[in-house]
Amino acid sequence: MPTDKPVILTCSCKTGGAESVHTFEEPTSAPPTEYEKKEKCGVFGVWGAPDAAQLIYTAMYAQQHRGQESAGIAVTDGQTLQNYVGMGLVPEVFDEHTLKNLQGSAGIGHNRYSTTGSSHAGNAQPLLKQYIGGQVAVAHNGNLINAELLRDTYERRGHIFTTTTDTEVIIHILACHHLTKHDPLVECLEHLQGAYSLLFLFKDRIEAVRDPWGWRPLVIGRTQDGHACVASETVAFDAIGATFVEEVQPGEIVTLSDAGITKRRYAEAQKAAHCIFEHIYFANPSSMVFGDRVQLVRERLGERLAQESPVDADCVIPMPDSGRSAALGFARRSGIAFREGIVPNRYVGRTFIQPSQSQRDNAVQLKLNVIREVVEDKRIVVVDDSIVRGTTTRGKMNQLRRAGAKEIHLRISCPPIRHACYFGIDFPDPSKLIASNRTVEQIREFLGVDSLHFLSHDGMLGCVNRPREHYCTACFSGEYRLNAEKPVNKLGLERYQLKMFS
Ligand code: AMP
Repeated sequence: MPTDKPVILTCSCKTGGAESVHTFEEPTSAPPTEYEKKEKCGVFGVWGAPDAAQLIYTAMYAQQHRGQESAGIAVTDGQTLQNYVGMGLVPEVFDEHTLKNLQGSAGIGHNRYSTTGSSHAGNAQPLLKQYIGGQVAVAHNGNLINAELLRDTYERRGHIFTTTTDTEVIIHILACHHLTKHDPLVECLEHLQGAYSLLFLFKDRIEAVRDPWGWRPLVIGRTQDGHACVASETVAFDAIGATFVEEVQPGEIVTLSDAGITKRRYAEAQKAAHCIFEHIYFANPSSMVFGDRVQLVRERLGERLAQESPVDADCVIPMPDSGRSAALGFARRSGIAFREGIVPNRYVGRTFIQPSQSQRDNAVQLKLNVIREVVEDKRIVVVDDSIVRGTTTRGKMNQLRRAGAKEIHLRISCPPIRHACYFGIDFPDPSKLIASNRTVEQIREFLGVDSLHFLSHDGMLGCVNRPREHYCTACFSGEYRLNAEKPVNKLGLERYQLKMFS
């Protein structure tokens, strides 16, 4: 039976010594039965730092917003890899003792954010495995659209999997290519389709990989002591006093080792498909993502929204915390006073990240409290970043009404989300998306507000610095760069054909 108790898995493997030692505490929760489709996470790695585990812990804490379900760290002392993973937030998983036991001058860390039904300790990363090439630990942010197909192929060949993550499939492919005359990692990556920012930890190096479309961010930095590091977001560098050096380019492998930082290309970069939702909601506002400061993008989105859908009102109220930056921009452009009217409870996590619907519903009740004097008898503009299922927003609008708001004008700083994401953001199947089969007017009615406007697709793309065709906006437009329904398998069971849309 599944259990609510946090479960810690440890795995310690020695290679190069006289004997192999594996210790593995079985999870007390039941293994998942359903293949998992999505991984939305944060990764961090550092090479050559005496206090690697401590640095990784701090950096992962800074990237906590990218995943709250589980956390893990794998380190190497040059000979042996060791990892420690568990369910929960970074400070819940690690303490002084566990960090001290993670001896080594290099390592990688992972924050995991999973979908409904797949909350499972056995899937926590980094995933550490022993294979013919030695030990490897892998941390993954993204989603492989052909993972199921690859896994099926390997299972038919007799491979046994112990988790339901995409990441384990990658390790099996790597192992199968170990004896190649070429570069095993490059050969492994050639099989992957979809979004992946990956860190591989070997005993003598970290390999940082970004998919050829650059769906998810991945950046290289340097600590004050000159050690190379790699992160999902620059906020991790700020937290450890490191500086940003450059992005890992789409289709590139960056190696961090005693030889410093070296790069090699494994695939031609495709026309970029940076996830626009990193800017709208997912990334930390203080991070540089895809060459833009996230906070400034969000303020511009709010300004643009004010231009596109002006309204006569007494004050602009941000939906904390996700709508705050856009609300600032809206207030600035419209000249309407900015007021905090909704107070968040900082100790309740992001509602979507609670794995089940009932947990999410309870969290919404706890999460926000309205300040009656700010909204009573007022015409208010409420600004939020997005609407997904609509359930949270409806609850919030009810609270505002009960507190006496005279008029509620809801403004959303992105277009209606009508399509599922197959590339790493947890948007459910389209039937659960409020905008998938409703008009804006029907959504307005459902939410019970006086007016509702979403930012236009064009307006949104006018707020980022890179060319507009370099962003993936498929959740709004339905125009996918890769066809997730027809993933490719280069391993023999060629049942499907890759279809490029661009
Ligand atoms: P709902 O009304 O239930 O669709 O919830 C809307 C709220 O969910 C907004 O305040 C968003 O900031 C937030 N949100 C949007 N996308 C996500 C996501 N992928 N994970 C968690 N929260 C999200």
